Parts: sequence; C-alpha cells; structure tokens
Amino acid sequence: MSKIKYTLEDSFKHKGRRKRLVEYLKEKGISNEKVLDALLEVPRHFFFPKDFWDDAYEDKAFPIGSGQTISQPYTVAFQTQLLSPKPGDIVLEIGTGSGYQAAILSAMGVKVYTVERVEELFRSTTALFKKLKLPVHCFLGDGSQGLPSKGPFNGIVVTAGGNDLAEQLKEQLVIGGRLVVPMGNRSIQKMVLIQKHVENNYERTEHGDFKFVPLLGKYGWKT
Ligand code: SAM
Repeated sequence: MSKIKYTLEDSFKHKGRRKRLVEYLKEKGISNEKVLDALLEVPRHFFFPKDFWDDAYEDKAFPIGSGQTISQPYTVAFQTQLLSPKPGDIVLEIGTGSGYQAAILSAMGVKVYTVERVEELFRSTTALFKKLKLPVHCFLGDGSQGLPSKGPFNGIVVTAGGNDLAEQLKEQLVIGGRLVVPMGNRSIQKMVLIQKHVENNYERTEHGDFKFVPLLGKYGWKT
C-alpha cells in the first residue's frame, strides 16, 4: 500500500465517518483487506464538490456534473475486490468520472490509466489529480475501445454499464489478467468477471446485479 500525502484537508470528522463507512462495507461482505485499507486511506470527500463534503461517507452514488455520478462506495469496493490488483500491476479504468476509483487503485500501488469521454470531467479530474499529486494517467476519448496503445493490462475495470464490449477489451489483457465489466441493458447490468488464463482461453463468471450510468461509444450504447 502506497502512503500518499494529500494536499486538501482531511479532518477528524471525515476520517471518523470514513472508518464507519469501511466497517459498514465489511459487514456488507467486502473482505479483501487491501481494498478496505485503500478505502480507509483515500478521502472520498476530495472527489466531491466542497459544499457536499459531508455527503461523501454515505454508501450512495452522488452527482458529479455532466449528468454523471461518482459510484456508490460498495460498488467501488466490490469491483476492486473482483479485480484484485497487486502492487505494480498496470490497470486500465474506463470511465474516470470523479477520479475516486482511480485514486483507490493508485493507493493500492497500481499504475493506473483511465479514460473519460466527457471533456469537462476529464479536465476537472485531471486538475484534481494534479492538485492531489496522484500519479494517474488520464486520457480523453472513447474507452469502449480500451486503450490498446498502453496495454496489455493486468486488469481492466469498466465503471459504466455496457451491453457487449467484453470482446474488445479482453484482447487487451495479459495472461492472468482480469476484466471487471458491468454488462446488460440500460437499466440493469450483471457484474461480469473475465479471467484470461492462457492465450485464447477466458473464464467468465457473473457476480450480481448493479445499476450504472450507460457506457456510450463505439462498443457501447449509441446515445
Ligand atoms: N469511476 C468513476 C468515479 O470513480 O467517479 C465513476 C464513473 S461514472 C459511474 C461513469 C463514467 O463513465 C462517467 O464519467 C461517464 O462519462 C464515463 N463514460 C461513459 N462512456 C464512456 C466511454 N465510452 N469512455 C470513457 N468514459 C465513459
């Protein structure tokens, strides 16, 4: 676990609320200690507009502008647990949004590439990473195509709901790599884990129902 020095204020009040949230996530079934440590370390309120910092430690998604949301903490923890990254891994996140998921991965010692299609969010989150001195590599574009120029990846996590994009993305995994992607229709998706065991051999498992904002783009929804 990397110890990141943050440059915004992390008060005792927010630390206390974060601890309670992590206890709650444990009760809900998150058991990977490294994931729980990262959730305890990263101040989620930094990824909220300042007026709403006090809302950051509820287990809820929250609007971040441009019609998008920061995912619910349980969802972030669940996806990260399925991805199960190790320090030094190279991970692609599709759907940067507020930057919180990328910050969690970075706190776990992962080299993170993240792609966002909404320019306004890309700009504000890139500026936030810079302010927080987080070494996350941000790209503006259509993440439904992955990021082949920077792959292959040990892990890929998609944080918007797709229909059928796994085929494109699984090609960008190393052997032993893991792809976590919510797939289904526009109102509900299954959390799918695809593991690449050997060349051209993929295992697919499903891990419950989730509800994400739609993944738009070439291999996502069209509108
Ligand atoms: N991971 C984010 C966080 O930690 O705040 C939450 C992401 S939000 C639920 C989904 C994000 O996916 C939105 O910011 C949306 O603009 C983005 N998105 C949708 N389609 C995309 C695409 N084709 N490529 C990249 N980003 C996309």
